[in-house]
Formats: sequence, C-alpha cells, structure tokens
Amino acid sequence: MAGGIIVQKYGGSSVADLERLGRVADKILETKREGHRVVVVVSAMGKTTDGLLAQARQVDPEPPRRELDMLVSTGERVSMALLSIAIQKRGAEAISFTGSQAGIITTDRHFDARIVAVRPHRVIEELEKGKVVIVAGYQGVSEAKEVTTLGRGGSDTTAVALAAALDAERCEIYSDVDGVYTADPRVVPDAAHIPVLDYETLQTMAENGAKVLNAQAVEWAKRAGIEIHARHTGQRYEGGQPAEDSRQSVVRALEPNERRAAAVSGEKGLVLLSLQGTSALGVLGDACAAAEVSPRELVVDPRGGVTALFSLLNAPDWARSERVLRERLPEATLRSALAGATAVGDGLTGVAGPLAPARLAALVGDAPVHGAIVGPLRATLLVDEERVDGLVRAMHAAVVAR
Ligand code: ADP
Ligand code: ASP
Ligand code: MG
Repeated sequence: MAGGIIVQKYGGSSVADLERLGRVADKILETKREGHRVVVVVSAMGKTTDGLLAQARQVDPEPPRRELDMLVSTGERVSMALLSIAIQKRGAEAISFTGSQAGIITTDRHFDARIVAVRPHRVIEELEKGKVVIVAGYQGVSEAKEVTTLGRGGSDTTAVALAAALDAERCEIYSDVDGVYTADPRVVPDAAHIPVLDYETLQTMAENGAKVLNAQAVEWAKRAGIEIHARHTGQRYEGGQPAEDSRQSVVRALEPNERRAAAVSGEKGLVLLSLQGTSALGVLGDACAAAEVSPRELVVDPRGGVTALFSLLNAPDWARSERVLRERLPEATLRSALAGATAVGDGLTGVAGPLAPARLAALVGDAPVHGAIVGPLRATLLVDEERVDGLVRAMHAAVVAR
C-alpha cells in the first residue's frame, strides 16, 4: 500500500535559480523513495513577486487589484512548471497544477483572499497514479472564477490547507532558516532556536510581522491539527527527522507539561489614524468602506473618538485608500511609517512580568511611543519605523534572554 501523504513547501529562496530548483527536485524524490506520496507547493523564484509588483507600479502607482492578481500569480506558475520538468527529467512522474486546478477556492477579495474550501480531486487522482503533484502556492480561484492571491507569504497557507484537505501526515515548510527562532535572527543575532512551539504563539508572532510562517497558514494548521515542520532547504532530513547535523522546529499542540516559548517580532509599514468626535466610529466605518480597507486594530475612547491601525502589507493600493480616507475624514490625523515591536508569551505584562507597566518606560528609552496594544498572549508597542529593530532587541533581552 502507498505510504502517507507529505506536503512539502519550498519558498522563494529555495527555488531562486535553476541549480537550487534541481536540488529541490532531488530532495522531493528522496522523500518519495522513503515510501511517501508527495505533494509539493512552490513559491515564485527568489524575489519575483516583488519584481512584478514594482513593474506594475511603474505603469500605475495605484494598480487595480484584480490585474495584480493576474500578474503576481504567474510567479508561482513558472516555478511549478520548471520543477515538474526537473522531476520528469530525473525519470520520475510529476504534474503541476495552478491553485485553481488544485481546487483552492477563495473569497473574492483580490490580493488578500482567504481560502474557503479545498477540493483537491485532481491532486488525489494524480497521486493515485504515483505522480509527484506540484501546486503553485499563494493563489486560488473565487466562486466567480476569478484568479485570486492569498496575501504575501501565502504559499505557506496553500501548503497547510492542502495538507489538511488531503489528511497529510505533516506539512514541511522549507526556507532559508532551520526553523522558528525567538526573534528574526537577522535582527537579533542571539535569537535562540525553538525546537517545539504551539500554534497560538507562532500565529501571534506571524500576525505581528514574523514572516517565517504566514499567520493564516498557522491558523489552518491549528484548526486541522496538522503538524508543521519548519526546516532549512539546505539541511538533511531522513525518515521525518533531522539528520545528525540538522534541526527543525515542530509546530503542534503542546502537552500539559510543556511550556510555551516566548518570542519577539517586528513589523514595519503600519499607519495610525485618529479621529475625534462623538460619532467618529460610524464616520470612520463609512470611510473605510469607501477606501476598501479594514483596520487591524480599533479602539474607541470614552468620548467617542477612534484610533485605527492599518497594515500596508497586503494593501498594494494603499495610496488610493489613503487619498479616500483623507478626503472623507479631513479632521483625522494619519501617522505613517510606524512599526510594531511585539513580545509574545505567557504572563509578560503581569505585575511581576518582564513587560509590567512599571518596566515599559525603561525599555523604550527615549523612543516616542505612538500606541500600545496588550492582550493575554502579547504586548505591542508602536514606534517610528527606524526605532523598531532597536526596540525588538531590547524586548528580546527583557523577555527571552533574561
Ligand atoms: P520563504 O521565502 O521561504 O517563504 P521567508 O523569507 O518568507 O521565506 O521567511 C524566512 C525568513 O523569515 C528568514 O529568512 C528570517 O529572516 C525571517 N524571520 C522573521 N522572524 C523569524 C523568526 N522568529 N524565526 C525565524 N525566521 C524569522
Ligand atoms: N510569492 C509570494 C510572496 O512573495 C508568496 C510566497 O512566497 O509565499 O509573497
Ligand atoms: Mg514566506
């Protein structure tokens, strides 16, 4: 009988050129030789998506979202076809599918669509024939048959959603890091590797800028109980385990005796809008609808004023949205180029915690703080973009490296 299904996702850096793509083909065939049925999800090669977006902006600084989806979805299509060719050249059978062909059904929100259903009939058919099935990440199709994309980093979501729909043994995410760290190792050199972490922690990190995994992907994994193994493409793994000189992070539900890891992340490209007045919430709501944006966070103060936080990550047409917001809300103040430094973990802001209110002032030093958001599992401080890396390092020292 054929072995269990493994979904492997290879990110942009793993398939950045033909040589690396060839190494990925070899890796996939090794997994197949171990007796597994393999579904592969690929991202666009290297920085292709950024390049395509820059081209669109040269034509029009406020490009229509629908056409952006038509454009950027080509990136993953190139990778899937080249990888399938590489595998077939090695003598094995493979077939590539677009997101639509693989049955990834989404909402109709262009550039930031959510997966609503996965109908992988064709994937299953081809797996049963013994083929390696390669699926273009980051894209789907709406009920109206429009091509959509899933938001930046969305290939992770394709992989986990497929793993759930196929009842896969696990979902392996290959990138240029050997797992999840207590902070982005590019920003915090002494960040520590986390061998096992729970879904909530990683989802909160991802929602606040840790791009090692996409937040939606982690949410799917949590809902479906899919284990994620985050790995380095260049390292060796055998029989589901890291080889001697390699490691990985496993994302799964923790046992009662396992403790949650603490971590810190940073996110640039935030905008804060404040509006005074008793009916500010209603006025803001109408303006957001006209500008086709929704705030990430929203606070209403006792006098009825509102403060809203927006993220530019999946707003390629923010210039247009901002123009509409300013037209509709001439009284509002908008503060751009903000960033959030977020600490994630249990009990951080408690009286005895490392981010207790009494300790926060010392932590931020002379950096002006534009806002703070505190929840049961996280604390975010909003600062100017150029301050965020320093604050992330200070938070890491206070929260993780203590
Ligand atoms: P891919 O293109 O393969 O999807 P990404 O660039 O999206 O890879 O994600 C990997 C990057 O995430 C790493 O290079 C690293 O700089 C960054 N990163 C941010 N936060 C973390 C973290 N906490 N742990 C590990 N990597 C992180
Ligand atoms: N290529 C897309 C991006 O750059 C999706 C992904 O890499 O996951 O965001
Ligand atoms: Mg990514």
